[in-house]
Amino acid sequence: MVKTLVIGNYSGADHAAMEAEFAPVFLPDPDALPGLDERVRASVTAIAYKGHLPVGAEHMDAVPNLGLIANFGVGYDAIDTAAASERGVKITNTPNVLNDDVADLAVGMLLCQGREMMQASAWARSGHWARTGEYRLTRKVSGSTVGILGLGRIGREIANRLAALKMDIHYFARSEKDAPGWTYHADPVALADTVDFLVVALVGGQETEKFVSREVIAAMGPRGVLINISRGSTVDETALLDALEAGEIAGAGLDVFWNEPDINPRFYALDNVVIQPHQGSGTIETRAAMGQLQRDNITAFHAGKALLTAVT
Ligand code: NAP
Repeated sequence: MVKTLVIGNYSGADHAAMEAEFAPVFLPDPDALPGLDERVRASVTAIAYKGHLPVGAEHMDAVPNLGLIANFGVGYDAIDTAAASERGVKITNTPNVLNDDVADLAVGMLLCQGREMMQASAWARSGHWARTGEYRLTRKVSGSTVGILGLGRIGREIANRLAALKMDIHYFARSEKDAPGWTYHADPVALADTVDFLVVALVGGQETEKFVSREVIAAMGPRGVLINISRGSTVDETALLDALEAGEIAGAGLDVFWNEPDINPRFYALDNVVIQPHQGSGTIETRAAMGQLQRDNITAFHAGKALLTAVT
């Protein structure tokens, strides 16, 4: 009897572990659900999900005995949580095990921006160093001012790393945190106006859509650099592109985009943008830990035990 349905594109190791632990049915994406045999759908009580395509009421209704959607990833904004609650479907995610990698990437993009590492590399590779001498002077990162938009699990790890770079830490969250020495801003525009680098680590979903608004971007000013590792949806991307093209802000480091992976081609023409292909948690070690946590939640669910990392 099939109890687990695995949806998404998994690593070979995760695929094999799922196979061994659950003998599940595999599907490439949620929209393949209706094509699945009705008796198989009726036997499924847990879905392992990996992906960014929406999972809505119609998908849940296609699996009438569904009790759990175990998401691979901390951000579960692709899953309709209201529809899940209405149907008594629990959701789990994979928090904390990925904090370090995502924070590392944010800091890496920030350093790339300040020190123009991508541009300098391209410049040296094209022979300019030997032909024309030293690269132009860049911008000091250590000791500058940074704003963290969303001081949650990942935001705090980013702030800790940047504090080690002697940066002055400012942050926004919906409430002031226990963060001695760091400056709280209740207003994201005031935060953007204060700092040199603005790092977005907000939760995704409708509530934070375009939270980094045209007004926030304008407040950053011509020396402002935006780093986003959260979700493409948290930033008004048209306003960001307008500001980058007009030189109204200095640059951006982006791991996430609207409509990824088909990102707006306007980004490709900008050499003041560091583009990463949504690889924040994409190390072998962390993806293995995420897969393990996803499976542990499914195992607990099938055994009738408490879920490890339930979000609803
Ligand atoms: P988290 O611990 O839940 O922190 C989220 C932050 O967002 C908190 O500071 C929270 O503020 C704030 N927030 C929540 N709802 C809000 C609202 N309605 N308005 C304004 N602020 C709100 O999340 P996390 O685990 O650190 O993850 C942060 C982000 O990283 C998520 O978007 C996640 O999807 C993304 N992520 C990206 C990658 C990648 O590969 N690039 C990998 C993993 C995660 P309060 O403190 O006031 O609650």
